Amino acid sequence: MLLAKTIDSLPPYSAVISGVRSGSPAAKAGIGVGWELISVNGVMVPDILAYQRELRRGRVELRLFEPESGVYRTLVVAFEDPGLEFDEVIFDGIRTCANRCEFCYVHQMPKGFRKSLYLMDDDFRTSFLYGSFITLTNLTEADILRILDERLSPLYVSVHSTNESLREDLLRWSTKVQDEGATKIRPMLERLASIDLYTQVVLVPGRNDGVHLAETLKDLAGRSNVLAVAVVPVGLTDHRSHLPALRTYSTEEASRVVYQVESFQRRMLAERGTRFAFLSDEFYLLAGRDLPTEEMYEGFPMLENGVGMVRDFFSEPLPELPDALPEPKRVLVATGRLFAPVLDRALEPLYRIKGLRLEVRALKNRTFGEQTTVAGLLAGRDFLTQVVPGEADLMLVSPNVLKFGTETLLDDRTLDDLRRELGMEVAVGGSHLAQLAETILSLVPRRSHLPQFGYSTHAVKESFGKTKPSQTSRKDTT
Ligand code: SF4
Repeated sequence: MLLAKTIDSLPPYSAVISGVRSGSPAAKAGIGVGWELISVNGVMVPDILAYQRELRRGRVELRLFEPESGVYRTLVVAFEDPGLEFDEVIFDGIRTCANRCEFCYVHQMPKGFRKSLYLMDDDFRTSFLYGSFITLTNLTEADILRILDERLSPLYVSVHSTNESLREDLLRWSTKVQDEGATKIRPMLERLASIDLYTQVVLVPGRNDGVHLAETLKDLAGRSNVLAVAVVPVGLTDHRSHLPALRTYSTEEASRVVYQVESFQRRMLAERGTRFAFLSDEFYLLAGRDLPTEEMYEGFPMLENGVGMVRDFFSEPLPELPDALPEPKRVLVATGRLFAPVLDRALEPLYRIKGLRLEVRALKNRTFGEQTTVAGLLAGRDFLTQVVPGEADLMLVSPNVLKFGTETLLDDRTLDDLRRELGMEVAVGGSHLAQLAETILSLVPRRSHLPQFGYSTHAVKESFGKTKPSQTSRKDTT
């Protein structure tokens, strides 16, 4: 059934339709790309989750606006998918955070990047849909009731410390907090008892580590709805003007953290049958310690948080290698300083192949500063300033440097820009060692995109390295 009449006032937000499935009720009704969904069953839908919730009711009445003609229509569909597609999953705007964390990556970003990279996403809906970490401090009572009612589970929560005053000190929330109760982590974890939670602790030297970390791990492990906790070191850049002085972990301190968390893991394994706490790769690499085995990551529950990425990278062994290449080839694998030595050792067998001139180059991060050593935060300019044009036939980069589904780097340069300016083929190396070796050896490098993972800071992660969820079900980020 299709009704049409002139609209008298537009709502504060709507969902722009980016696709209409052919043969669907919407297509048959003449609804097209660019139309806007105003409401479903008389209520405005703030996000894809609310839209799907309304569809599940069976009979739906969709109000649609056609900007060109200025009219709106009502489409009634019963027990059938209307066939509408949306590029965005949040229709009423991303909920930004109410905090001013002293280690916030957004506040440490150089100026001049695209606007979306400065977005301080702290939205429980993107946490559910994408697995981004949220602090919960901006929740209203209505949000909490919705999370419980719609069972938006699991959620990903930045805890940092269960000591309330220490957490307040680290997060430094502002007047944007709508409900004081939401800032108390222990009662909040209690209220969300029916929701599974993956948690993280960003560890700051001398602040929330040591006895505070022990207390936090114990508290979180005491809650059956907390499935795991990732412990990641604070990430600092050279752009910390007007921010508290912080420092990164030394090798010795990182070793102490590894020892502390591994001792806790052994206790938890005996008591709860899971290691429960998992350290990010950075701690092992900083400490110069061997990475845990694949089995010790228990299915990599927080891979996207940098927990187990390196082990996962090495999960597929090198393929059978030739003695020589049919024709000489110069290959440069350009990556971050943290991972480069590990990768260099892993690729050692390839150095014996005749005709292959291979180099793993550790690039300094001149965009964020030399304290930033992860590969995923290298920008186009870092490659352009540290690779000499024509010095290789092929340069391979980590998939983590690209925005999801594109060949665009952090500073909006593209792989084509690098190809043109460096006068060489540039391709994505692969998410596993075996793929990387195959790409090095293949005569024609693949240009296809491989699965991508982001850096642990959720604002950067918001745009880089996240997998777009299906619009019908939450992506399994584990
Ligand atoms: S780290 Fe996250 S929660 Fe903290 S201020 Fe930055 S965006 Fe907000």
